[in-house]
Amino acid sequence: MAAASLRTLSRAVARPAIRQLRPSSSSSPVMLLSTVQKRCHSSKHPKGFEAPSTEELEELRERVQEFTRREITEEVAAHTDRSNAFPNDMWEKLGEAGFLGITADEDVGGLGMGYQAHAVVMEEMSRASGSIGLSYAAHSQLCVNQVQLNASPGQKAKYLPGLVSGKTVGALAMSESGAGSDVVSMRTSAKKVDGGYLINGSKMWITNGPDAHLIVVYAKTEPGKGSKGITAFLVDTRSEGFSCARKLDKMGMRGSNTGELMFDNVFVPEEDVLGSVNGGVRVLMEGLDLERLVLSAGPLGIMQAALDVALPFAHRRQQFGSPIAHNQLVQGKLADMYTKLQASRAYTYGTAKQVDEQGIIRTQDCAGAILYAAERATECSLDCIQLLGGMGYVEEMPASRLLRDAKLYEIGAGTSEIRRMVIGRAFNKEYANA
Ligand SMILES: Cc1cc2nc3c(=O)[nH]c(=O)nc-3n(C[C@H](O)[C@H](O)[C@H](O)COP(=O)(O)OP(=O)(O)OC[C@H]3O[C@@H](n4cnc5c(N)ncnc54)[C@H](O)[C@@H]3O)c2cc1C
Repeated sequence: MAAASLRTLSRAVARPAIRQLRPSSSSSPVMLLSTVQKRCHSSKHPKGFEAPSTEELEELRERVQEFTRREITEEVAAHTDRSNAFPNDMWEKLGEAGFLGITADEDVGGLGMGYQAHAVVMEEMSRASGSIGLSYAAHSQLCVNQVQLNASPGQKAKYLPGLVSGKTVGALAMSESGAGSDVVSMRTSAKKVDGGYLINGSKMWITNGPDAHLIVVYAKTEPGKGSKGITAFLVDTRSEGFSCARKLDKMGMRGSNTGELMFDNVFVPEEDVLGSVNGGVRVLMEGLDLERLVLSAGPLGIMQAALDVALPFAHRRQQFGSPIAHNQLVQGKLADMYTKLQASRAYTYGTAKQVDEQGIIRTQDCAGAILYAAERATECSLDCIQLLGGMGYVEEMPASRLLRDAKLYEIGAGTSEIRRMVIGRAFNKEYANA
């Protein structure tokens, strides 16, 4: 199928039809709203971006649910966890459905629908499988969106169509075994040579690392300059000297392949510098806000999955002659789970709406949304295990997988402690400027 018609198909599948049904009269309220939104959209959206309506987001959610019901059944999710391997045929399916370029330009096959839409897809993927959701976000947010926001037109034309169609897999590598929370202390170096750079060093815990074709890699171009000496590079993993030393064996998110990557004199041509030389920390920090925001939808999906398991179980399971859900202590747990999910959802989507409609990215809210949702997801999955009793403790039911998957969100994309620090520092900055 020709690339153009594939893109049209992707958009037709994923992009809500209602988007094309907007009234064209300039006096209509919808039109007035979108004019305001257009004026306000941030530099973090494609040109001409219009924030999606509630109906469009609902329609998108239904389309993702149709996809997950068909492609990510409970059997697929359980097998992905047990086999400790991502189902690699999923990439092209996700690409064909149009989900891999939610925030990317339409001319590279993306949907240009913004961060609320990306959170919707991430939530529903993670509801079906935490692992597939995590790998999905590493590809579509950490890699695709970083390229979308920072790449030159030439780089976008070269890399985005493959990534958006799912023919190539993306990742982002900043963490190192000695530089996690303190990522600026990274040791991987990029030395200037004729026509490009030679990268040396290693990266740790890289989601999609074992499968990726393109990785956004951060390395020190001027080690003496600290945070002002880091540059982002687009690294083709076919380059000589690149290798994945090992796939990590994790407690959860087992179907999301995580790797330790080695760079041994990997040559990267000048044209594959992402953003400006020594400007990597800006790329990294700005990317982190939106990464935390989109990733906060992962724990939302896991909390919904916990309710999907616990609610019917509590109404079916009879003890002392009635469903356990008729017991007030059980009702209390279900009510807490539901309330935590809804509060987390409101925070994530409220923050994403502010980004899409007003172009405002508040660091403390991006960090706050994932801090809150991640901790609540661990609590909800523990409650889910408790409500299932013995069945919560065996692998026949998904409850233990949900807990193992949920815990990751208190660690990846910056730990809970670092998120609290980020929030505190953001306030310090505001008060210093007051
Ligand atoms: C499954 C998985 C997937 C990942 N995917 C990626 C990826 O795709 N790309 C990538 O680049 N990285 C990735 N990471 C790495 C992740 O971002 C780091 O693990 C995380 O930032 C924490 O770093 P660390 O593991 O070195 O912990 P450390 O920084 O060593 O922290 C250890 C503990 O000390 C605490 N701590 C550290 N400093 C402070 C402080 N100043 N104040 C208070 N407490 C502190 C931490 O909160 C934590 O509890 C992934 C990690 C995992 C587990």
